[in-house]
Amino acid sequence: MTAGNGIAPDGAVARSSRIVCKFGGSSLAGPEQLRKVRAIIEADERRRIIVPSAPGKRDTHDTKITDLLYLCHHAASVGADFSGSFSQIADRFTGIEQDLGIAPVIAGHLEQFQAALARGVTADYAASRGEHFCGLLLAAWLGAEFVDPAEFVIIGPNGLVDSQTWALLGDRLGDESVRYVIPGFYGRDTEGHVRTFSRGGSDVSGAVAARAANAMLYENWTDVSGLLMADPRIVDKPRPMEEVTYSEIRELSYMGASVLHDEAMAPVREVGIPVNIRNTNAPSHPGTRIVARLSPEVEASTQIAGVAGKTSFAMITIGKNLMNREVGFVYRLLGVFEHNGIPFEHCPSSIDSVSVIVESNWLEGRSEQVLEEIRRTLEPDEIDFVPSIALIAIVGEGMARTPGIAAKVFTALAAAGVNVRLINQGASELNIIVGVAPDDYPAAVRAIYGAFVA
Ligand code: ASP
Repeated sequence: MTAGNGIAPDGAVARSSRIVCKFGGSSLAGPEQLRKVRAIIEADERRRIIVPSAPGKRDTHDTKITDLLYLCHHAASVGADFSGSFSQIADRFTGIEQDLGIAPVIAGHLEQFQAALARGVTADYAASRGEHFCGLLLAAWLGAEFVDPAEFVIIGPNGLVDSQTWALLGDRLGDESVRYVIPGFYGRDTEGHVRTFSRGGSDVSGAVAARAANAMLYENWTDVSGLLMADPRIVDKPRPMEEVTYSEIRELSYMGASVLHDEAMAPVREVGIPVNIRNTNAPSHPGTRIVARLSPEVEASTQIAGVAGKTSFAMITIGKNLMNREVGFVYRLLGVFEHNGIPFEHCPSSIDSVSVIVESNWLEGRSEQVLEEIRRTLEPDEIDFVPSIALIAIVGEGMARTPGIAAKVFTALAAAGVNVRLINQGASELNIIVGVAPDDYPAAVRAIYGAFVA
């Protein structure tokens, strides 16, 4: 027996045997894609809760439905003609409906929406209709029950899901024998108005549904066969990751590896629901599993999860003799950044020097002012400003227990003739971060990747 929150009386989490499947925009771009989606859902009885995005681009010249909806809303709100974008939206949905032979319902919804746009609706409401209409079509196409997230997903003032949602949505999705379709991207605010998550937020909705339903798995269906160990624009055909931990993913996505929406991991991570990234266009590929702990086989066979990096950092390094004896030195240094409203990313230090690394856009047009304030407040012996530096993170849970990882990284960089400007090993022992000149960045990533993947 479980309470409404899925917690069994002895405190253990009782998982349902259901799988939540979120399908991204490219998986729903047209009728052919919807046919694939249905085949995937019907291939596994446990795929009971389906979370669609709005139809995305069919090819590179196409426009996402969500973008068209924002355009319509903008035009309507300034009293301009929005019929051009509106008919593109209407054509997409009615085209899908006709092609799939779904009993016609969408025209009525579109008409009501057109009238609402003319009267005035919020941007969030307009944008949410992409997922809403797609959900209606998909529910009809699958013979599933439609659940409107505006009634069951509560989004707080900070734009994140409110914890009331777990019980509310959990109850609504309570019948394990029913197949549900619940559109992604939106819910309602605490006052009852339709509100969206930030862009790409259907990933968050999928995680929210998985958490509320205590699903055994959250499948995130997209158009790639899982996550890659490095950026394919830099490394030729990088290897896909079979399994990766939530913490590794957090580090890699912080460093720019685009994975899931930033806020999508928290709801499932908190309760340990695994995520599986899959490819709608290659459904037999196992994709990448994101888990709390690696399986022993994967743990034994991988040294690092992946390599990611960004070239958009700036670094200020301060040297002062006997800095280590000056109580509160770093506190005052970071105080300068706080005072200027600048978040810092890393702060590696040695006995007599400390560096602060920030995203370089924060210093645009005001680096002199910040440097001057540091000089005044801390009276350093030296101060060095590097306006542009690339950081590369080598990420892996195995790092803490495997000797020689750092040696491999630095040997590879030396062999590639890359000068290392900075080294930082995260306190979590989950990553090593190296800083290099932006021009050296691609060579450095390739060298590091090559050192771990034969
Ligand atoms: N349709 C929304 C967007 O384009 C949400 C999503 O696709 O995840 O941002």
